[in-house]
Amino acid sequence: MKVARVALDVPLYEAFDFLLPEGLEAPLGTLVVVPFGRTRKVGVVVGHSEASAVPVERLRQVERLIDDIPPIPGETLGILEFCAQYYQRPLGEVVAASLPPRLRQVSRRRLAAKGSRPAAPALPAPAPAPNPSLAQSAALALIQEPGERFHPVLLEGVTGSGKTEVYLQAIAAALARGRQALFLVPEIGLTPQLESQVRERFPGAAMACAHSQLNEGERARAWLDAQSGAARIVLGTRLAVLMPFRELGLVIVDEEHDASYKQQEGLRYSARDVAVRRAQRLGIPVILGSATPSLESVANAREGRYAHAVLAERVAAGAAMPAIRTVDTRADRPQEGISHALALAMRERLGRGEQSLVFVNRRGFAPVLFCRDCSWHASCTRCSSNLVLHRREGRLRCHHCGHMERVPVACPTCKGPNLAPIGHGTQRIEETLAALLPGARIARVDRDSTARRGALQDVLDRVRSGEIDVLVGTQMLAKGHDYPNLTLVGVLDSDAALFSADFRAAERLFAQLVQVSGRAGRGSRPGEVLIQTDFPGHPLYAAVARHDFARFASGALEERRAAGFPPFGHLALLRAESKVPGEATAFLARWALAAHDISAEVEVFDPVPASLERKAGYERAQLMVRSGSRAAMQPFLRSWKSAIAAGGERRVRWSVDVDPQEL
Ligand code: ADP
Ligand code: ZN
Ligand code: ZN
Repeated sequence: MKVARVALDVPLYEAFDFLLPEGLEAPLGTLVVVPFGRTRKVGVVVGHSEASAVPVERLRQVERLIDDIPPIPGETLGILEFCAQYYQRPLGEVVAASLPPRLRQVSRRRLAAKGSRPAAPALPAPAPAPNPSLAQSAALALIQEPGERFHPVLLEGVTGSGKTEVYLQAIAAALARGRQALFLVPEIGLTPQLESQVRERFPGAAMACAHSQLNEGERARAWLDAQSGAARIVLGTRLAVLMPFRELGLVIVDEEHDASYKQQEGLRYSARDVAVRRAQRLGIPVILGSATPSLESVANAREGRYAHAVLAERVAAGAAMPAIRTVDTRADRPQEGISHALALAMRERLGRGEQSLVFVNRRGFAPVLFCRDCSWHASCTRCSSNLVLHRREGRLRCHHCGHMERVPVACPTCKGPNLAPIGHGTQRIEETLAALLPGARIARVDRDSTARRGALQDVLDRVRSGEIDVLVGTQMLAKGHDYPNLTLVGVLDSDAALFSADFRAAERLFAQLVQVSGRAGRGSRPGEVLIQTDFPGHPLYAAVARHDFARFASGALEERRAAGFPPFGHLALLRAESKVPGEATAFLARWALAAHDISAEVEVFDPVPASLERKAGYERAQLMVRSGSRAAMQPFLRSWKSAIAAGGERRVRWSVDVDPQEL
């Protein structure tokens, strides 16, 4: 009897046994169609055996192999198994998450491509590159010298210091060694420039893009091309780290600190951490780049586990770091969101034909609709949050659950007419600026204005060609873009993050301010950044103004050490939600008790409400556990999760979040 163990995308932790019909060979990694209940499913063979715990009369047969898709290579299966174990998820779910949807369908047209790699094409030389600066050469030497072995490098470089150029030259070297390169970016929609930059540099090397905005056919194509080796460079978002490769020789994680590398539902993995682990298993170099690296990576570099390359200055001739100043909004009170100082600076730019960017990290018109007579405000009935006013659509919208309603003409409580929008979103600032700067060509960039595919690219092209004077937008504007004529950045409403309960909030604010400041003065004209704040003396703003990330990081690391937070302690959350009040918390309290019995080396906290306490009608709570040692945390989590799963809880939805990014 030949039994195949098949990983299926069902919420159970074990793989399933199926009989292999006589004469059918299904090597590890093979995609197979199997009967499941009354339906059929696509699964992946993850093991073989001669026997099964399932009685033979109840074993069902593998129906057929999907033979036009080459088996998932052993190395890729290995990293998927690692993810399943480390993040406490079923292997079948992890495998499914790594497969493009098209390849998971039971019935689909056969794919034209076969697995064999096209005869190794002689690569035409890359397009000419600028001569690397001294700092870039030093960074490249640090990356290349150890040769092809596991070798993590933290590339810490201020915005505009030429990190991208270092990546490109490292890719060139990997391609020349006959290797594939994986280039991860936080959000591909935000970096269309990067895609054309890579294509232009390597005209002879096929590149595949991998991100969620691709259609199903394109995603399947990219997966198959990475797997066969036809694609020499894969540029993608976090999901690309789980793709199969034939001869991967380099991994790059750009903006490695970015929160979007962590998936926030299902398989809650950190693509950055998985990238490092994968490079380690493969024995290849990995580059983590950022102007504001995560404190975890800073600690790794300072303690010598990662090599550390620093690009301290902007590289382009004449480009200097922008001058960063705070505007004291207690004295210079903003009118409709914009202070006098910022308005003045923008008028100056307009007069000189230069561009400005106003950063306000909140979309919509106003975050609150408020009754001046009775203090009623519009809130979501399903979430513990306000409804955001989208005035042009005449709607109130919940940004958490998507709930929408018409804007009331009178207060629903006192029937009074005095409803007023409070606070500023991108739409409102856009209107303010239109009134303030008559004749200026203004464009808004946020998730609403760029919902259509290609819309973001259109706006960014217009900025580059000088058709836009003023950009207003959310953090979508903070990353990656390079506009030589943009010389002013205004930052609105960033104070809230100074006082957040989340221990990562300050780190994130610092990164965001550095990123958005980095858009100013990338050409030969100097840049200026004005941060509107009620707390102009706050040390975080002072450190941003001094461009002193190193000192900020030292201070923040000391606080983390004192509090036992990452990277000095390892965290996991048990998250729970239920429609019945109190049930999620009661569930967590039960499992907190059980946790005490499982391990003495893990500290168990009390259940607390989630930062968004109610979402889409569910009451949400979480329980934190912490350990000084990863070696103790992992087996603890395995036993704990297994016990909870065996508990058969039906009313509470729960999940384990390992190394949580958001508390
Ligand atoms: P970063 O990724 O660190 O923000 P970039 O790689 O985008 O910086 O580089 C900033 C600018 O400097 C780009 O316009 C790039 O073409 C240019 N540049 C990079 N390296 C060099 C170099 N060695 N000599 C001249 N210009 C360079
Ligand atoms: Zn009222
Ligand atoms: Zn809601």
